[in-house]
Amino acid sequence: MRIGAHVRQDEDPIGYGERLGADVIQMFLTDPQKWEKPPTHPRTDEIRNSPIDVVVHSSYVINVASLNNRLRMPSRNAVAQQAQAAADIGAVGLVVHGGHVRDGEDVNAGIVNWRKLFERQADKGGFPVPILIENTAGGDFAMARHFDAIDRLWQEVGDFGAGFCLDTCHAWAGGEELVGVVERIKAITGRIDLVHLNNSRDEFNSARDRHANLADGTIDPELLAEVVRTADAPVVLETPAEGLAEDLAYLRETAG
Ligand SMILES: [Zn+2]
Repeated sequence: MRIGAHVRQDEDPIGYGERLGADVIQMFLTDPQKWEKPPTHPRTDEIRNSPIDVVVHSSYVINVASLNNRLRMPSRNAVAQQAQAAADIGAVGLVVHGGHVRDGEDVNAGIVNWRKLFERQADKGGFPVPILIENTAGGDFAMARHFDAIDRLWQEVGDFGAGFCLDTCHAWAGGEELVGVVERIKAITGRIDLVHLNNSRDEFNSARDRHANLADGTIDPELLAEVVRTADAPVVLETPAEGLAEDLAYLRETAG
């Protein structure tokens, strides 16, 4: 089982991971609130050669599903750029949020936009790392909040080799029960490539995305340990820094 965390220190991600005793780390390669193309990472060789696995989280501004050309086009471009940058450092994948259309717009059109992302890239030889679509917590017009939407999404993107990242906080706050969640998702996607293991500050189905340390949120920590035991995928904590060491210790004890 490989366990780690999202690093808060992008200049020296491996050093940060080593201090945590992480097997896997997640990082941004560019400011997540901006569109800039990722620069070459100054520690590329160290990251590539480290036994610590690296996964890249794409920018939050990306919304592949958007029906608005002026958002969707730069989103497609950014996914391609960030996937290449992820490959350059030897990352195992690029996490991209499912995204959403605006209230009242056609969810199916957003799902078709996801398929087009993969279709267009397939014409260029495909993405150089797997794209891991992450479930999200909020909105009634999201591509990957409710599992019935993920089912429809997968009918369009599954054949292109899309990967899945399960975030426990997002599933819970999005209104999906965590009992048996691994089985339910795998029945839809056939795979879980990565787990974002987070507790939630907010109640079930609150639609709010506020992560908590494993022992501090509204989710029973035993349910979180069960996800880790059953998912058969690397686990990345995105929990508040102050409780991170305890979160890692809890996982090694209960889920290992
Ligand atoms: Zn997440």
